[in-house]
Formats: sequence, C-alpha cells, structure tokens
Amino acid sequence: MTRKLYVKSYGCQMNAYDSQRMADTLAPEGFVETATPDGADLIILNTCHIREKAADKLYSELGRMRELKKQAADDGRRVTLAVAGCVAQAEGKEIVRRNSAVDLVFGPQNYHRLPGLLARAENGAVVDTEFPAEDKFDHLAAPSRAAMRKRGVSAFLTVQEGCDKFCTFCVVPYTRGAEASRPVAKILAEAERLADAGVREITLIGQNVNAYHGEGTNGRAASLTDLLYCLAGVPGIARLRYTTSHPLDMDERLIEAHRDLPALMPHLHLPVQSGSDRILGAMNRRHTAAEYLNVIERLRRARPDIAFSSDFIVGFPGESEDDFCRTLGLVSEVGYASAYSFKYSPRPGTPAAGMDQLPEAVKDERLQRLQHEIDRQLDAFNARSLGATLDVLFEKPAKRPGQIVGKSPYLQPVHVMDHVMASSSLIGEIHPVKIDHIGSFTLSGQLAEQYSMQDRRSLIVA
Ligand code: SAM
Ligand code: SF4
Repeated sequence: MTRKLYVKSYGCQMNAYDSQRMADTLAPEGFVETATPDGADLIILNTCHIREKAADKLYSELGRMRELKKQAADDGRRVTLAVAGCVAQAEGKEIVRRNSAVDLVFGPQNYHRLPGLLARAENGAVVDTEFPAEDKFDHLAAPSRAAMRKRGVSAFLTVQEGCDKFCTFCVVPYTRGAEASRPVAKILAEAERLADAGVREITLIGQNVNAYHGEGTNGRAASLTDLLYCLAGVPGIARLRYTTSHPLDMDERLIEAHRDLPALMPHLHLPVQSGSDRILGAMNRRHTAAEYLNVIERLRRARPDIAFSSDFIVGFPGESEDDFCRTLGLVSEVGYASAYSFKYSPRPGTPAAGMDQLPEAVKDERLQRLQHEIDRQLDAFNARSLGATLDVLFEKPAKRPGQIVGKSPYLQPVHVMDHVMASSSLIGEIHPVKIDHIGSFTLSGQLAEQYSMQDRRSLIVA
C-alpha cells in the first residue's frame, strides 16, 4: 500500500541530506514523498537548533500540524506526526508534553530506526533521543536509482558527523554528539552509486568536515585529503567540494590538494566568526585572526583562483565596538565571494548563554553594517565575472523556456539560452560559458563555442 510522506527540512545541508536518507529508509515501507503536508500520511519536521527561536518556531508549526491532523481525522484518515533533528534531540519529551498531536520524537542519530519507531508509535507517543551504539549509516537504506536521478546532478554526501570542538556559542556538540567519521569504503560505494545515477558533483558534508578521520581501505585512518583523492578517481565525478571546515584543521596536505587535484573546486567555505582575538578566545575557536589569514594566504598561493566564503557572528557576549571593527577589517582584508552573518543567539546549555549579553539594538546595528560590507563584496565578486569564461555544470531547465541553469565553480547560478539543441541535452554536462550579464543573484551568458555533442562530452573532466 502506498503512503504519502512529507518531510520539512530546516537548517543546514546535513539536515537536507538526513531528510533524503529518511525518505530512502521509508521507501521500502511503501512511502512516497509529497511536496505538501496536505494529504500526507506521515509528516516529519526535521528541525535545526543552531539559532534563535528554533523551539518557538517548531511549537507554532506543530500548532498548524495539529489542525491538519484534526481535519484528516474528521475525514477518517490517520496522520502520523514526527519531529526529528536537533530540536528533537534537545527538547525530547517536552515536545510531546506541549503538543499531544505529536506521535514520534527522534534525534539525528536514530533515523535508521524509523520503521520500528513508527510501528511503536501506533500504540502511543514514542521519544527516542539516545545515542545508539550502532552506526546509523550501516542501517540506512540506499536511495533507489530513480530517487538519485530525481535529486539532480549535484549531490551532498555526509562523511562525518558531530563535533569535539565545543565553541562556547554552539549547540552542535550536544545535539549531534562526538565526532564520528564514516569509513572510506562506504563513502566510495555511495559516491559510485551516485555517479552511476548521473551525479557529476559531490559535496562532502560534516559539521567539522576537515577533521574527517575515517577508516581507510587499508585499515588505517584516512584524512579528508586521502578521501578526496579516492573520490576524484570515481568515473563520472567531475567536481568535488567539502563543507564545513574549521581553520584549525586546514593542514598542509589539504591545502596542497587544492593545487594538485583538478576536481577540487576553487571555492572554500571557511568560517572565522570574528576578527578579534579576544572574541575568538572567548568563543574557544583556538586560533587567532592572524592564523586564519595565514591559512587563507597559503590557500591562495596553492590555488590563485580560489574564492572564499565564511560565517560571522556579531554581538557575541562582551564584543566591543573595537572587536567588531576588527571583524570588519578582516572582511575587507580577505575579500569574500560571499558570507553568512548572524546575530549571536544564546543557545540553552552552552557556556556563552551564561555570559553577559549585549543589547539587541547593538547586535542589529552591527549586523547591518557587516551585511552591507558583505553584500558589497558579493556584488564586486560577481561583477568581476563579467566577460570571463567559466565552466558551468548544467543542472536543470530554467524557468524561461529554452533557458538552462547551472553552477559555476564558485557556486554562482549561471543561465544560458541553448539555441543549439533541446536544453535537457546539456544537463549533467560541464561547458564553458562566456558571462555577458550580471543579475542580482545570477549570471547569464553564452555557450563559449558551438561544440558538437561529441566535443562537449570530451570537455567533461571524468
Ligand atoms: N562547524 C562550523 C564552524 O566551526 O565554523 C559551523 C557549524 S554551525 C552549524 C553554522 C554557523 O552557525 C556557525 O559557523 C556560526 O556562524 C552560526 N552559529 C552557530 N551557533 C550560533 C549562535 N549561538 N548564534 C549565532 N550564530 C550561530
Ligand atoms: Fe559548532 Fe563548528 Fe564550533 Fe563544532 S567547530 S562547536 S560545529 S561552531
């Protein structure tokens, strides 16, 4: 019997990947994914706890879901309501206590138990926020070829989970647990399956991805660099990326891989959070601003065309105007392609939540100033693409008929009118595009030359 599954994913790419794997695990049980909660038999809210009001947002969403569940019951239909992810891990039983419509609460380490948990939830609410001894990845079903195809030519692949760094602002070590890396052989097998289904670009993901230290195929510990070299040998995989990295774990071999491994894209997300050593110390980041700048410089030497993005937190407890100006100074010194900036938000149970907090108005004002500078840098970076020829991995037809959209090595969306042949023939191909227009968030251009299909294929770096 076919049942409809609706998964709403909040937060980071790791959650998006987890949501896909939940759908894969439930597919053999007869669940088919649907894009809206109306008419769904099972609703899973895959939550994120990283920033403010995550729990409040969940409780108001659950209020709406309770109504939906009631309407379905009036029509004689049973809807199962489940909460997954980091808020589930942090709030646990409290969720069921505050909203009796919830049937199941389970943490990020328990997805593989989903079929069993759902069966138990038929007889009353179930809460599972343990950190089980078994590895969930060993028990999760592999996606079907059809599911992989539907998800496109660019895929995320989780290689590492959890974090041992304990930055004083962050909940991840508490909600996702200690660092754990998947063995190389398992990752390789997943990458081969993805390539076989037409995937051309893989982004390796982990909360602290460059701390990866999984078991290698020779039984010894492998680093992220070893893993990248292994994956670069998978036929069909033309592009590799990894995120999110910690500056402390950017070792020399990984930096050299940016010089020596053509599949490794010249774009790196390397969060620094603050430009002030005093604040970096209070955050327990364990490096200084100068050490971060040194990593950036070594990467630029290894790969001169590399571009960077970062995360910043403004208004961390005790941040003075001088500390904040050091952050602005670091931003202008690096010159980012893009960056994310957040107001510090106290996370329950983390050390910084107990420190003296700054007024909201100060945080708001600093966030605005920082975002202004980041937006200026983003515009400048895109403007420099005008007239350049960039390799574009084509992903899907664009909204406008005859147009197709793909991504540059720098993750910029690029639109192209394909006059030569049906747009879909280019999907999954990498082709040079001469950029002739810069929009607010996207670039557009012309295929650089009129290649025959045969020539196009030879452009693919396999
Ligand atoms: N592991 C990554 C690192 O060390 O840079 C970051 C992972 S975290 C999921 C993503 C981003 O959320 C962080 O880089 C930080 O900027 C932001 N973040 C985490 N906790 C936060 C908090 N309490 N308040 C505001 N932003 C926060
Ligand atoms: Fe959180 Fe990243 Fe720090 Fe780990 S390294 S505690 S995930 S911010």
